[in-house]
Amino acid sequence: MFQAKESPYLVPFDGTFHLGDAPQAPPEGSPEEATLEDQLAESVDALDDLQRRLYADDHWSVLLVFQAMDAAGKDSTIRAILRGVNPQGCQVMAFKQPSLRELDHDFLWRVASRTPERGRIGVFNRSHYEEVLVVRVHPEYLKGQRLPRSLSLEELWAERYESINDFERHLARNGTMILKFFLNVSKEEQARRFVRRIDRPDKNWKFSEGDLAERALWDRYMEAYEAALNATSRPWAPWYAIPADDKPYMRATVGRLVVENLSSLGIDFPDIGDDRRAELAILRSSIR
Ligand code: ATP
Ligand code: MG
Repeated sequence: MFQAKESPYLVPFDGTFHLGDAPQAPPEGSPEEATLEDQLAESVDALDDLQRRLYADDHWSVLLVFQAMDAAGKDSTIRAILRGVNPQGCQVMAFKQPSLRELDHDFLWRVASRTPERGRIGVFNRSHYEEVLVVRVHPEYLKGQRLPRSLSLEELWAERYESINDFERHLARNGTMILKFFLNVSKEEQARRFVRRIDRPDKNWKFSEGDLAERALWDRYMEAYEAALNATSRPWAPWYAIPADDKPYMRATVGRLVVENLSSLGIDFPDIGDDRRAELAILRSSIR
């Protein structure tokens, strides 16, 4: 099974992650913007090559999960990382409030049917983790889910973490390399970005009052993130908590981690073998 690459941002697997200690700004002495852009461009090129191998090999798939508070930069990071990959080779899925049809099923149903095919890179822009994040902050949403058993909330979250771990382990065993990114933006930087969304006409469409309501619940979201990351960071489905206050640093870091992890699978173009090569040589000479 795939094993996560080390990084200072890798969330440990033993439940000792403290969100309050996780950096939101780049480390001292990190490269300047132009260098970070160059690093990102290298990762984008490398990812294009890796995706071709992934597709040709046709045994593995890649699932990149993005979770974050509003305005942390999920959309722009996804765009930046995948801009060089063949559009036929990737599938981006966004998960918003569940529909009535989705609420008629268990909480993993809508994600299970949207996992990437072999050879593809799938991206979840929000994911099944909303079920232990926004729903944990707003337990009243559970009413719409019509769960038949009455558990304490603590038991319910514990069961959901277990279901998520089992589900991801199942995917990993069957050839999906899962990487999960929490874009860790600070409350101060989120305020600056919200203000910019109001000040700049081309960003007005991004602003919604609902985002302010969720911002008011910041501390509860952070508790939910810390609990979820601790319960579900595993060697085969790691979480990385990425400093998100500086976008160039965030994108370069996510890009590098995707490339390092995918490279570690050592996927090569399939070797067709000597017999087939001989057949091809004959066919070649027959082309007039
Ligand atoms: P953007 O604001 O950049 O367009 P977004 O992902 O924030 O993207 P919105 O439509 O603003 O999209 O918000 C989607 C909302 O749906 C989020 O507040 C999220 O928490 C909520 N959501 C996602 N999954 C669930 C779920 N399973 N249950 C309840 N709410 C959910
Ligand atoms: Mg939003």
